[in-house]
Amino acid sequence: MNNHMLIRFPNVSSNVSVARIAAATFASFREFSLSDIEEIKVAVSEAVSNAVLHAYPGSSGLIEVIVENRDDGIQVTVKDYGKGIEDIDEAKQPGFTTMPEHMGLGFTFMESFMDELHVESQPGSGTTVRMVKKA
Ligand code: ATP
Ligand code: MG
Repeated sequence: MNNHMLIRFPNVSSNVSVARIAAATFASFREFSLSDIEEIKVAVSEAVSNAVLHAYPGSSGLIEVIVENRDDGIQVTVKDYGKGIEDIDEAKQPGFTTMPEHMGLGFTFMESFMDELHVESQPGSGTTVRMVKKA
């Protein structure tokens, strides 16, 4: 099955739920359990929330979410063209945040709820988070 989709939207917070629902609906056509779908929803929400909250401080910018079928499940890519992450290993540590009122657990949820998490980032040009969930 070579099905895939791309949605692109500005960094408006209401788009977090649009992306979550779109990804969950796409995933629901594969052999996922309900709890798998819930986990996909959380991971997609965390990745998109990060792009909305952190990528474009004080300005607007675009976010892309790509969902693709793989033989063994789905792959979700969340991409922004914003400020990037200086130190990815540090950013992924549980509890690390640059926004003190936040918990710093987004990457921890993505890592524990998905089978693969790959983060690529270039300071000044953006961040790409790619996640795989096996059905
Ligand atoms: P929480 O997700 O618990 O609300 P958080 O967003 O700070 O808090 P993480 O999602 O784990 O925690 O992200 C850790 C840090 O990584 C963020 O505080 C931010 O500095 C950086 N970061 C994450 N995603 C991006 C991004 N798309 N662009 C720039 N910085 C990012
Ligand atoms: Mg976060």
